[in-house]
Amino acid sequence: VFVDDVDSLLKSSKNVDKVLMLLGLTPEIISNGLKIVDLKAKLSKLQKRKTTSKEVDSIESEIEHTKEAISDFINKVKTGILIVSGASTKARRTKRVKLFNELLGFEIGSRIEFIRNIEDIYVHDVHVVEDKVIELIRKLGSGGIVFIPMDKGVEYAEKLYGKLIESGINAGIYTKSKRKLIEDFTNGKYDVLIGMASYRSPLTRGIDIPHRIRYAIFAGVPKFRISLDIEEEFKPSRALILLANLRDLLEQKEQDLVDKYIMDLRNLIAIIGRDDMKKIVDAVKQNVKLTGFLERVRRKFIEIISFLTNLIGREDIKEKIKLAPHLSISSELGKPYLVVPDAVAYIQASGRTSRLYLGGVSKGISIVIIDDDKAFNGLVKDVKWYVEEINWKDIKDVNITKLLEAVDSDRATIRKLMDGVISPEFQDIVKTALLVVESPTKARTIAKFFGKPSKRTIHELTIYEVSTGDLVLNIAASGGHVFDIPTYDLGGNSLYGVLSIDGRFIPAYITIKRCLKCRKTFTEPIGKCPSCQSPLEDKMWIIEALRDAAWEADMVLIGTDADAEGEKIGWDIAQMLMPYTSMIKRIEFHEVTKRALINALKNMRDINHKLVEAQIVRRIEDRWIGFELSKKLWSKFNNYRLSAGRVQTPVLGWVVERTSETRRNIQDFFELTLENGIKIVLKKPLMKHEEVKREIDKLKNLTCIVKWVLKEEEEVNPSPPFSTDSLLNEAASTLKFNVSKTMALAQDLFEVGLITYHRTDSIRVSSIGQNIALEYIRDKFGEEFFKPREWSREGAHECIRPTRPIDTARLRQLLALGVIRLAKRLTDDHLALYDIIFKKFIASQMTPTKVVKQKCEIAIEDYIEKIEGYIHIVKPGFSLIKPLHLIPEVKEGAIKILNVQNWKAPTVNLLTQGDIIGLMKIRGIGRPSTYAKIMETLFQRGYIKESPKRNIISTKKGYMVYIYLSNEFNEFVSEETTRKLEEIMDLIEKGSIDYQDVLHKLYSEIVSIRIR
Ligand SMILES: [Zn+2]
Repeated sequence: VFVDDVDSLLKSSKNVDKVLMLLGLTPEIISNGLKIVDLKAKLSKLQKRKTTSKEVDSIESEIEHTKEAISDFINKVKTGILIVSGASTKARRTKRVKLFNELLGFEIGSRIEFIRNIEDIYVHDVHVVEDKVIELIRKLGSGGIVFIPMDKGVEYAEKLYGKLIESGINAGIYTKSKRKLIEDFTNGKYDVLIGMASYRSPLTRGIDIPHRIRYAIFAGVPKFRISLDIEEEFKPSRALILLANLRDLLEQKEQDLVDKYIMDLRNLIAIIGRDDMKKIVDAVKQNVKLTGFLERVRRKFIEIISFLTNLIGREDIKEKIKLAPHLSISSELGKPYLVVPDAVAYIQASGRTSRLYLGGVSKGISIVIIDDDKAFNGLVKDVKWYVEEINWKDIKDVNITKLLEAVDSDRATIRKLMDGVISPEFQDIVKTALLVVESPTKARTIAKFFGKPSKRTIHELTIYEVSTGDLVLNIAASGGHVFDIPTYDLGGNSLYGVLSIDGRFIPAYITIKRCLKCRKTFTEPIGKCPSCQSPLEDKMWIIEALRDAAWEADMVLIGTDADAEGEKIGWDIAQMLMPYTSMIKRIEFHEVTKRALINALKNMRDINHKLVEAQIVRRIEDRWIGFELSKKLWSKFNNYRLSAGRVQTPVLGWVVERTSETRRNIQDFFELTLENGIKIVLKKPLMKHEEVKREIDKLKNLTCIVKWVLKEEEEVNPSPPFSTDSLLNEAASTLKFNVSKTMALAQDLFEVGLITYHRTDSIRVSSIGQNIALEYIRDKFGEEFFKPREWSREGAHECIRPTRPIDTARLRQLLALGVIRLAKRLTDDHLALYDIIFKKFIASQMTPTKVVKQKCEIAIEDYIEKIEGYIHIVKPGFSLIKPLHLIPEVKEGAIKILNVQNWKAPTVNLLTQGDIIGLMKIRGIGRPSTYAKIMETLFQRGYIKESPKRNIISTKKGYMVYIYLSNEFNEFVSEETTRKLEEIMDLIEKGSIDYQDVLHKLYSEIVSIRIR
């Protein structure tokens, strides 16, 4: 069934029903579909109110029931295919529209392609803009559009039009929508069209003539003016733009206020209807009171107006605008205006020259004649927030003739295709690919790179569809692991889910079942959750949905995370899809950005079996030793809930040993605060209460002697950027995040595209990373503070770093303005973690800081304390972004003690989560992908716990288990054995040893444990 103009179809629900019946659906099925829509609406209301789960349960099961009836019907009856077309940019989410989703699995709504293949060029030092326009048109020929900046107005467009005609150029002026003019331009009657550079202009949005438009010329930087007479010309949208542009000039506190106002305005603009808004704005201007909600909004607007008026009146702000590289004030008839570059208009207007067609994305030329340097700087900056890959070129460095050749060859092809002359090379040019990733967030992030994706569902699996220019990508998420080793006994020649066949060990994988209620996972063939009796989902349904999607596509791309675990998930999926597709490739990207994805698509590879084998061995070894040792624990302690693993045991050992050590050696600490602010801590053997009092009195009356002071200049270098261990360590110590929390937050930041892959032991910085740092440092501190460092040359992996030169404050602003829209909502914790990653990375690419270092010796009775530290900064460097800790300056001679504080504590400190991660890294236990897992396991088993002060202590259970294991099975669980095993895994990854040999050795180990 073909439907043209889907919008008018949707206006009548009867028509929708007719179409559905034409497809073969019955009125009963349609009413079932509507029932689901209603139930889902009811359900989401209930969930928002957090009412009793009983009601929710009954609705959920009713939905499930109705869905089954629909799918039974659709599986039995051969329904037709529905194809719709129309200009529906925003299909209203009516019940009938949702019906399409429930019954046919697709959403109506337009897909917006956002790909461009444009040479962005600028011309500077121009005396007369109009002459330059004429010169350029003569050079570039027919098929151009000339855009006039909004601040120059329509009169200027008319003036330029006159000049072009005078010089004999065949131009048309298009300031109002005129079909005839477009026709005449299309068939060559006009060579160029003149229009306004605004996103509202008919020339930037309405026309789509890929075979005709070859270039765009901007007769001045696209920009508009906003009156600074705020009260007189108040409009919420103008206030919003002013706030966003003035924000950068303010101190942190005022920036926070501006961010709040921006959020308020955005929300209000979104929810208030046009009539109400007019009422409020009029009331603001006439100073009339309203009532209720409208009055509250009016007051908010007045608050914002007075804030802005005050701001613009301030001398410091005027001065800052003068100095700002992007902002300027112009005045007309004595009225001041702020000049604002218009990035959205530029992207949209230049986009007319480059369109998606059967052969890819056609080449276009866009030339900006600079009439205002500040506005151009601002344009360059703002356009980057939307389109990262823009690379501006000076016209002097561009070979126009060559560029025109590329432009014209694309136009010729498009014309041929339009005339139906399709050469063999274009017969099968549009390849479709199914791209499978693990997480839905990652899928959404990728889908947004190329515009607004269209969305459909196959067996409830969401699939996004976008075009990259070369490929039509269908993007779906597997939801992590699909298979695991079964926990039940396979009998015969098997050991804990692993079969032994002809001398080879073969793990028998089974799909993971997950409880829909308590989210626990199982790998047994069971129908209900054993702990809460709720229904389970068998992840096989995802495989089935992926198979259907693969069947439709030309190839399957595996885009799981770039490490051994991701490789294994990808391999599992590939095994399952193999019979349904003719080609499966792996793409590897270390950051979820458009740049990295496109690069990965150019470098497709096969699945790396060595990585998969290493991951299989890790899983088997964990299973075998875990089950075998657990059995020993059960019989020893008569407790079936105990369990053990290899890698966890040495880590448990560190905690057990440190905990007992701290219990043995408690001491008294005395912290002396000296007159000059220096603090000294003395340790003394444990004292009774009275003795402590006497000691404090004595110390208070002592005089310290600074024996000598040495000051010298020193250069301090920044530390390298984060790898997984150092990130976990620092997040634990500065943000008080535990390791699981940090990993979960970092996973989100990675999946929304803000940071590089967070499981890495590399500190390497690629040239892309260095450029990001350069861009930020140049803008913020000046290029003289930039000092690129690679830190390491090993491997393809990189440090954990931001993917764009956007600091946390800017990120907050861009999110508030809606310029950046992420696939997941970020919390303050996400931003806090992003902040330490960003600063650490930028610091690692900055110049050293020159400081004065002070060393001194202070004598207190017979005790001598050596103190070292920086006292002041001679020349700043990385300290601009990561401030150094400074200590007070000290002079030689006698010095009084101001205050004494006492506490009792162990001589050595308990371990923190950060310490443990640090130890794992140094001693080679665990890997970036397992640090957090090891800690988590120890917590879950109740072997370790966190003290109120966030120190890690071993429990009695942990102590017993560790002592038993290390006494009886030391050769299997010692630090040394574990480290060696990790090294063996690395060797399997590299392909230097055969994984079956390793499994054989592990097997004999298990046998030797068993017979003890
Ligand atoms: Zn359950």
